[in-house]
Amino acid sequence: MSTIAEATPAASPGPSVGLDIGGTKTLAVLLDGDGEVRAQARLATRKGPHGVVDGAAQAVEGVARQAGVPLEEITGVGVGVPGLVASSAGTVRHAVNLDLDGDPLELATLLSARLGGVGVGVENDLNVAAVGAAHLVEAAEPDERPTDLAFLALGTGLAAGIVLDGRLRRGSSGAAGEIGHVPVDPLGPPCACGQRGCLELYASGSAVNALWPTVTGRPAPVELFEAAAAGDPEAVAARDTYARAVAAAVRLLVLTVDVRHVVLGGGVSQLGQPLLDAVRDALTDESAASGFLRSLDLPGRVRLAPGRVPVGAVGAAVVGRGHARRVRDLTA
Ligand SMILES: [Zn+2]
Repeated sequence: MSTIAEATPAASPGPSVGLDIGGTKTLAVLLDGDGEVRAQARLATRKGPHGVVDGAAQAVEGVARQAGVPLEEITGVGVGVPGLVASSAGTVRHAVNLDLDGDPLELATLLSARLGGVGVGVENDLNVAAVGAAHLVEAAEPDERPTDLAFLALGTGLAAGIVLDGRLRRGSSGAAGEIGHVPVDPLGPPCACGQRGCLELYASGSAVNALWPTVTGRPAPVELFEAAAAGDPEAVAARDTYARAVAAAVRLLVLTVDVRHVVLGGGVSQLGQPLLDAVRDALTDESAASGFLRSLDLPGRVRLAPGRVPVGAVGAAVVGRGHARRVRDLTA
């Protein structure tokens, strides 16, 4: 099992590579033994079973070359992918964005073979983002306590990756953090999951498209927040409605697992500070009548995903450390 705690042994773990394979682009980073990003790269994602393995191998080789680190010195590789991941087996299936929809793809085994036997860990894309966010928060704000953090992805859907006591928590069936399908209005519209009024219908990126359809072809969240900033009263109301829904997701995470940090990620988070301000304002308003909520300092727990490094690829590299190459000298 890859966890941040286990993946950070006392001895320097050596360089590892992380890949975040998305539907259109693959982000790669090389982390050195101190956990610093030494090189990063962005490539077009290749699809289908052969394309995913081949593209991943080339991304690892490319970022290692860029960092000047020979492939034999890479101690582990982690890969974040969309779809259903069995992390213990290193397989992925039902990743429709990657044209993987048949038998499970044995990604860890196949990629390891392509890279000369290096250990490979495979994890869901949301989970590597949570691990990456925890790694970056720990690096920026060293603390005695292990990190408790949720990475809330505001994208096509709505879900959170959860790190508690410095360890990634997947839950007994991998559904930990699937808060997008907590119904918040039993009379609300039907959700693709079969329930009604799920939080995802109000707080995801898709919800912004429904609330404020784009007229220029730019992303709907950008148009909405710009119109609100310009003082359009309808836009202000729509922005505040959306911010309250995201605030509800934050409150749900804090009241369920009491995470110290809720990191806003996913496409909508590219709005940056205006999104953070709107969500913090909504949390402050909701806390006004509740001394209990005020005592939890919800606004102070929310932050944006760091923009300067690809958080998912960083998390994948941390996961990769937990899959260190078997040292031949010791096993021969
Ligand atoms: Zn649902």
